[in-house]
Amino acid sequence: MPAPLMDTYAPPDLVFERGEGVRLYTAEGKAYLDFISGIAVNALGHHHPKAVAALKEQADKLWHLSNMFKVPGQIELAKKYTDSTFADRVFFTNSGAEAVECALKTARRYFYDKGEPHRYRIITFTGAFHGRTYGAINAGGNPKYLEGFGPRMEGFDQVEFGDHEATKAAITEETAAILVEPVQGEGGVRALPEQCLRGLRELCDEHGLLLIYDEVQCGAGRTGRMWAHEWADTARPDIMAVAKGVGGGFPMGACLATEAAGKGMVIGTHGSTFGGNPLAMAVGNVVFDELNAPGFMDNVLKVSNFMQQQLTGLADRHSGIVTEVRGKGLLMGLKLVDDVVAKEFAGKARDRGLLIGAAGDNVARMAPPLVIDESDASEAISILDDTLADFAK
Ligand SMILES: *Cc1c(COP(=O)(O)O)cnc(C)c1O
Repeated sequence: MPAPLMDTYAPPDLVFERGEGVRLYTAEGKAYLDFISGIAVNALGHHHPKAVAALKEQADKLWHLSNMFKVPGQIELAKKYTDSTFADRVFFTNSGAEAVECALKTARRYFYDKGEPHRYRIITFTGAFHGRTYGAINAGGNPKYLEGFGPRMEGFDQVEFGDHEATKAAITEETAAILVEPVQGEGGVRALPEQCLRGLRELCDEHGLLLIYDEVQCGAGRTGRMWAHEWADTARPDIMAVAKGVGGGFPMGACLATEAAGKGMVIGTHGSTFGGNPLAMAVGNVVFDELNAPGFMDNVLKVSNFMQQQLTGLADRHSGIVTEVRGKGLLMGLKLVDDVVAKEFAGKARDRGLLIGAAGDNVARMAPPLVIDESDASEAISILDDTLADFAK
């Protein structure tokens, strides 16, 4: 009998029944420390009382309308996003890839609207990940994700991540925008230095290009600021794609744009049946409020500093296995030597009760809920320590 699911994933033989805070539990009651949170999604942890209450309350009222009708929760959340960021306009999506698609369309449409339709090319970077839809895999440029899916889509030029001169050289009169993750997640947990973001902003200003950030993974408080680019204060984007953590586990995303950059997205240019659904908005509003509550980011900063220190200690103790500590805030990576495969390493950590992920470039990836404390962090470090010791044998 073939399995009913497509073989696109290979999950371990393990089923979780419920979650509470930073922990997941099997039906037999075995607990796991969740240091991946559905890949940077459960920002408030599992079973957050306010998020659960908001979802239940909305579930009793109204589930779905489509965008044929006004959804008050959309206007409320869009106002929170625009009041607190560079952006003036918001389009809600169901996922990160859709937020990226909307960002790409917004950028191209901006130039079309300006009477410059020949400017449609987007500069992207090696190691990028922007999702799995056609536009997103072509933007990401990872050959593994493109193979077997027909001809490559026109209009993306990839340069080395962080190479300012190469980026500059790639700009032509057909270039519309630069698309970059301020911290790469999937590609190997690589943070772009703040001066590089400023450099990209300057390049865009010089050449009249739009700067697009993909903060699907590194946004929503993950780095200790609401948005990762806020660390490079002047390097604000024109367009930004967000998702993952903004819904805290309820599927949602958004494309944010300045008034000018979003100008081409007029009636009929874009749409989504489910985007901005009332259930998603009920949760999205709670997540925003919690992330912006006094003291929340202080905890992220404090515990992430502690984690980074501890990880550096681990890397020193196990220098034969860990070659580098990467990341920013609570998006963290341990680059491993070639003979220790990150995925196998994550499997061994799981056997010891710690859930982590693997990213590209043989990096063990961690993205715990943002509500972890130092004792959770210490527990994770101790399991990582033991797991590394196993591999050293
Ligand atoms: C996960 C991710 C996406 C895609 O999000 P989906 O919700 O899986 O479509 C896009 N960009 C980045 C940076 C991501 O990490």
